[in-house]
Formats: sequence, structure tokens, C-alpha cells
Amino acid sequence: MKIGFYGAAGEVTGSRHLLDVDGFKVLLDCGLFQGHRGESIEKNVHLPFDAKTLDAVILSHAHIDHCGGLPILAKRGYAGPVHCTRITAELTGIMLADSAHLQEHDALFFNKIHQKDGKTIEPLYGDAEAKAATALLIPHPFGEWIVLNEKIRFRFLNAGHVIGSAMIELEVRAPKGLRRIVFTGDLGRRQTLLMDPPVPPADVDYLLIESTYGDRLHESLADVEPIIKRVVERAVAEKGKILIPSFALERTQELLFVFDKMIREKTIPSLPIYVDSPMAVTITDIFDRHLDSASFSAEFKRYICDEGDPFALKSVRYVRSPQESRTLNDKPGPMIILSASGMCEGGRILHHLRNNIEKDSTTVLMVGYQAQGTLGRRLQEGAKKIRIFGLEHPVWARVETVHTFSAHADRDDLMWFMTSLKPAPRRIFLVHGEPVGRAKLAERLLAAGLTRVAQPAHGDGVELE
Ligand SMILES: [Zn+2]
Repeated sequence: MKIGFYGAAGEVTGSRHLLDVDGFKVLLDCGLFQGHRGESIEKNVHLPFDAKTLDAVILSHAHIDHCGGLPILAKRGYAGPVHCTRITAELTGIMLADSAHLQEHDALFFNKIHQKDGKTIEPLYGDAEAKAATALLIPHPFGEWIVLNEKIRFRFLNAGHVIGSAMIELEVRAPKGLRRIVFTGDLGRRQTLLMDPPVPPADVDYLLIESTYGDRLHESLADVEPIIKRVVERAVAEKGKILIPSFALERTQELLFVFDKMIREKTIPSLPIYVDSPMAVTITDIFDRHLDSASFSAEFKRYICDEGDPFALKSVRYVRSPQESRTLNDKPGPMIILSASGMCEGGRILHHLRNNIEKDSTTVLMVGYQAQGTLGRRLQEGAKKIRIFGLEHPVWARVETVHTFSAHADRDDLMWFMTSLKPAPRRIFLVHGEPVGRAKLAERLLAAGLTRVAQPAHGDGVELE
């Protein structure tokens, strides 16, 4: 029995781990590498294994760095099952269609600006491959054992990261006895707004665990409401617009829940809230259909029971058409606009920024991580001028940040999870983390008595007893 690490090993994208049991090959996640163009294209295009020789794929959740490589597998001839939870199946179809659209758009744009020097690129995949991959998805409920062959079975356990997200627990009949392998995928926090926190499973022999925030702590969720209250009060007083660049999956729904709660409790007045992102609207529909899901916390379910659907506030308007999106330009504030993309690199948020960034009554509220080099990061760092669609705009709007939201376990959550495993695993593999952060986490684990901790590099293979 062997495990190979072919992505998210010393980095945070391209999650791909290959379990080989007597030649039966199971791929855990098939994510897309993101980041610097040249390097990520290389890793995405060149598969380190033959797609046709895989026997099964199991997905942890629907984020693109965990499922976005599936169309490439399909393109290379993989036609076997892709197991996932029911909600992940619904979300993955949407995420892959969107990813294909972005790939095609990116390639067109690249080829247009390089027309003179003759450089061209092909999209990584298009709509046809995304559809082919979506057709391979096999949805399963949480907790039910699924038999892969006479030696391997697995089940999905709640990971508490995003709706539908799962840990994958595999049981393998190895020559030296039964072995339990758990891959956490992305792991949620112990304190969350919507999700049910993950429960550390028992009797784990081998653990593959993410380490994104291996050396960082999140701020408390209690910090969210005072910031929102201040921003809303100002917008109401100055009849301004609050622009929130937001990720379509989870962050938008978390914010809607916070607004619902604050309006019901009269902490803030009821003001128009526009969800101006077709993907966020579709994903919120999926949340609505699965409000009874095992992914959600008891507290969130109680809220739904007592107060009703948090995504059905009277003041929330879901905007799908570009025409309706444009009408927001002429409407006076106060209002809140939630729009993608989360780092202001594309999408409708750019139009709202272009129309409102020069007004001092506008607030841009950052609620997610803003990567180096993005427009969101420049705004967050206090840029006085920005360029949108090639035109320069002075920044008169206020930019505020809420650092609290994160769907990932932080350092203390990860330590809690691993030190709760009884007995201690034979081996822990830290994946899905930058080298410095996971090295610090490994040191901390060592100090806590967990000595068998590995930090695999891309391409490493390890024999499991
Ligand atoms: Zn994720």
C-alpha cells in the first residue's frame, strides 16, 4: 500500500493524493493548481499518472483547488466514478462550468493581447470537458460505507469547511491488518457561523491533514458585528453604498446570515441588500434546498427553526441579469452590494467599483483574503489611485476590512484536532500548506508528543504498512 502526493504538497492549491492498494488506484481530490501562470499550467497539463489507469476518484469538497482538475482527467480518458457527497455533486457541476468559462475567457484574452508576437495558449479545458467530468459524479450521503473492492471501503464524514465538505475515511485490508486512512480535505473551525464543526475520528492509522493556517490564529467571530454596525450606520447617515467583494460559495451566505440576524435584532436598520452575482444566487438556492443538511451546526438549524430562512430577508434582492445589475448604478444609497469576484479581479464588482470609488460616501468592505498583486489587495493597502478597465480612478471611498471570516481551521483548531486523535496515528502527513507554516505546525506537534509527522514534497511516494 502506497500514497503519492501530487499536489497541495508544500503549497495550497492542486490537491491530489494517490492511494495505491495492490495496483488499485484511488485518487483523493483532483484540484486545479492556481497561481503563477507558467508554473501552474505546467502542473495542470502534465499529469504525473496515467488518467486511464485510475480506478476511482473521491472528492472532499467543491472548491476549485480540490475539484477543478477533473475536466483534465476526463480529457485524458478517465471515465470511472467520481464519488462525493450529494451537495458537493450539485456544487461541483456549477464550479466546473464556471471554471471552464474562465479558462476559455483567459485564453481568448491572452491570445488577443499577444496577437502581435504570435504567442497563443489553449484553454486548459472548455465546457464540453467540464460537462464530461460532471457526468462522472456519484453522490452519496454522509456516513454510509461505500465498497470500492474486496479490500477497500470508505465513507464521508463532516469536515465543517463549506456546505457538503467531507473528510474521507478509508478502511483498507492490508497484509498486516485493517488500516484506517483519513484525508481531512479542508478542515473547518471549531467556532463557525453556519457549519457543524468537524469531530476527530477514532482509530486513525494514517492522517492526511491540511495545514493552511498552520502558524496563524483567526480573530474571534464576535468582532464581526461591531464593524458591520459602524459601516452600516455611516452608509445610512451619508446615503452611501457599501460594496462587498465576496466569494460566491459560503462567504456570501455567511454575510447574509449576519445581516439577517442583525436586522432582526435591530442592531442595524433594514436597508436594501443586493446579491449581484449569478453564481452566488445559484449557490444560495442550493443552501436553501439543504437547510436540513448534516453540514450545518445545531445552532444555525435552531436559528432557522426560530426565525425562518436567513436567506429570505425582505430587503435582500437576488440579481441575475446584467441589465438589473446596471440599474443599481442609478439607485441612491444606502444599500449593500455583495458581488464577485472576491479579490476584485473580475466580475460585476469591477463595475460597481468604477461607479462608486470616487465618492467619499462609499465604503468598500473586504471580507476575504486578498492575494498579493490583486486589485483588492491594492485597495486594502490604501492605494490613492486604481486602474479599472484601463482607466485611472482616484480612490475617495473608505476601505475597511473584517479579518474574522475564514472557512479553515486555524493553528489551535488543527492542534486540537490532531491531539484529540486516540490512539495517536502511526503517521501524520501535513498537506495543503505553505512550507513555513506547516514546518512550524510540525514543530508544535513534536512538542505535543506527536513525533511521526511528515511534510511530503510534490511527487513524494510513501509506503504504508
Ligand atoms: Zn476549500
